[in-house]
Amino acid sequence: MKKYIKQASIVLGSACLSAGIAFAGGGNAHWGYSGAQGPANWGNLSPEFEMCAKGKNQSPINITSTIESELPPITFSYAASPLDVINNGHTIKASMAPGSSITVEGHTYELKQVHWHTPSENHIDGRSFPMEAHFVHADAEGNLAVIGIMYVKGREDASIVDIWNNMPAKTGEVSNNADVTVNPMDMLPTNRDYYRFNGSLTTPPCSEGVRWMVMKDPVEASAEQVEKFHSSFHGDTNRPIQPVNARPILR
Ligand SMILES: [Zn+2]
Repeated sequence: MKKYIKQASIVLGSACLSAGIAFAGGGNAHWGYSGAQGPANWGNLSPEFEMCAKGKNQSPINITSTIESELPPITFSYAASPLDVINNGHTIKASMAPGSSITVEGHTYELKQVHWHTPSENHIDGRSFPMEAHFVHADAEGNLAVIGIMYVKGREDASIVDIWNNMPAKTGEVSNNADVTVNPMDMLPTNRDYYRFNGSLTTPPCSEGVRWMVMKDPVEASAEQVEKFHSSFHGDTNRPIQPVNARPILR
């Protein structure tokens, strides 16, 4: 039997907390990254997940055949936020206190949370990366904008050390500490040129209408950092790439 626990929090990016715990919106199916509950079956697990199978603007994608265009710069107004990290069974999610936002094309989106996937979900010109961060933003109407940042293996990434050191090992565990702050500004690459396309959540319910921006330049993380995340989830946490269909990808 499926348990159902009402969650007041909004759902952004990574839906259910763990096996059997429902997300706001009514769905309560358990999903994962392998086997019968893996990505190929997400669309069949619950009526709420039908976009995972039926959607034509699904994420992630292979970013290729991009169109040269005059993309406006993203204005980042991120601030340090107290450490507030949860292992939701699918990822490590660092929630951000109010006060961090981006503005792009005159539109402001507030940063809600940052989470990671190993290996990367999006590919760039056919290339997969060892890890990808998703910075999940929402505007006042609840429209989502996600910024993806790729990692290559190299030096330790100091900007995520406190999150990694406080990474909860078990599903549903939370670590928070008001005396430790994380600054999402420090997680960004120096060059903030990006690719732009429309897409979806990469986790059930795979809702579309998400404004995606993926940084062209990766940042570095150590092999140990990537491995710690990967082993925390006993394997890969990436949805396979989805058909681009008729979508333009701007660069
Ligand atoms: Zn994600």
